[in-house]
Amino acid sequence: METKKRIAILGSTGSIGTQALEVIKENPSLFEVEVLVAHSNAVLLIEQALAFKPNAVVIGDEKKYQEVNNALRAHDIKVFAGEKAVEQIVEMETIDLVLAAIVGYAGLASTINAIRHKKPIALANKETLVVAGELVTELARENGVNIYPVDSEHSAIFQCLAGEWENKIEKIYLTASGGPFRGKNKDFLATVKKEQALKHPNWSMGAKITIDSASLMNKGLEVIEAKWLFHLAPSQIDVIVHPQSIVHSLVQFEDGSLKAQLGLPDMKLPIQYALAYPERIRNNFKRFNFLDYPQLTFEKPDLETFTNLQLAFDALHKGGNMPCILNAANEVAVQAFLEDKVSFTGMSDLVFNTMQKTGFIKTPSYTQYVETDQEARRIALHLL
Ligand code: NDP
Ligand code: MG
Repeated sequence: METKKRIAILGSTGSIGTQALEVIKENPSLFEVEVLVAHSNAVLLIEQALAFKPNAVVIGDEKKYQEVNNALRAHDIKVFAGEKAVEQIVEMETIDLVLAAIVGYAGLASTINAIRHKKPIALANKETLVVAGELVTELARENGVNIYPVDSEHSAIFQCLAGEWENKIEKIYLTASGGPFRGKNKDFLATVKKEQALKHPNWSMGAKITIDSASLMNKGLEVIEAKWLFHLAPSQIDVIVHPQSIVHSLVQFEDGSLKAQLGLPDMKLPIQYALAYPERIRNNFKRFNFLDYPQLTFEKPDLETFTNLQLAFDALHKGGNMPCILNAANEVAVQAFLEDKVSFTGMSDLVFNTMQKTGFIKTPSYTQYVETDQEARRIALHLL
């Protein structure tokens, strides 16, 4: 008899987390939920725990502990709280796979600890590889841990590479929708309000990544993520704007052959692929129809208007702790934008200035990444 994969979902109450639970619910013979981790949404965490009966749950926000414990105590579900518990829960022996779907730098420590404990990772939290890609991929190599991408572009590349592991990649093309402000100029961007930025044309996602998508910072983070996932040089990574979000990314091999992965934009597909790899699971997701998309178009990204993408390329070329600085400044900027404390274009200025002012380290240790994140946040908050 086939045994079920026991999954820990870090960030179960988020956009990726809830969609992962839908995938698991559809495939009860393949998966079971071992652990759920959330930060502040106690009500949804309790609801999920009662539905999926995990062995344990963690609520990051300690103030919510009583509420969660009161609701789950009678159901034989262990309840833990606090940042340390989020990090440590991944050590549980009964976990077969960790879905890292916490948003931002906050997802780093738990992902690293899971790798240290030899847990395969389904990685949604791209910031982990942006902040400390070299350290994380080296740790994964040492521990023989596979990292399966959940990000749709990286899942596309991964799917194109199946059966091609020995063949050299010449380059990859990451596709970008261009977001809600594609074709606009800087003057327009300067006036943009968060309500406009939170409306993505093709994908429904958490607030942070939606703002990142509008500013093209998301694509910049993905370029850095791709470098580490697929061991590429910066010159091997290109971004192409594709507004329909049907071609999810492409690989070009040494003979010039291009492979792409296509499909309707639906995160459940890459989530399912990462959870079930190397198998493909039959599902009833909506199928692509060519006649609905008579034209698939491609254009150059506008790096002068969307300076965030250029800044991410700069950080990638500089290396060391520069991507970590970029990420920290961007997290401060996005939070400030969502609180109406900085303009849309002001976010890029803040990232640029923080990159100038934070101390550069060529080969940082884990502690130095943590210190860099703190220093960059301090500087960004001061510049605000
Ligand atoms: P959401 O904002 O929707 O969800 C974030 C999740 O992380 C929530 O469950 C939240 O808990 C939890 N969380 C936040 N901070 C902490 C913390 N300090 N400790 C523990 N848990 C925490 O984000 P998304 O699901 O959109 O994105 C998650 C990650 O996946 C991001 O890195 C994003 O870039 C990546 N990704 C997302 C895609 C998408 O379609 N959404 C596509 C590709 C990548 P709570 O709600 O309880 O506070
Ligand atoms: Mg993506």
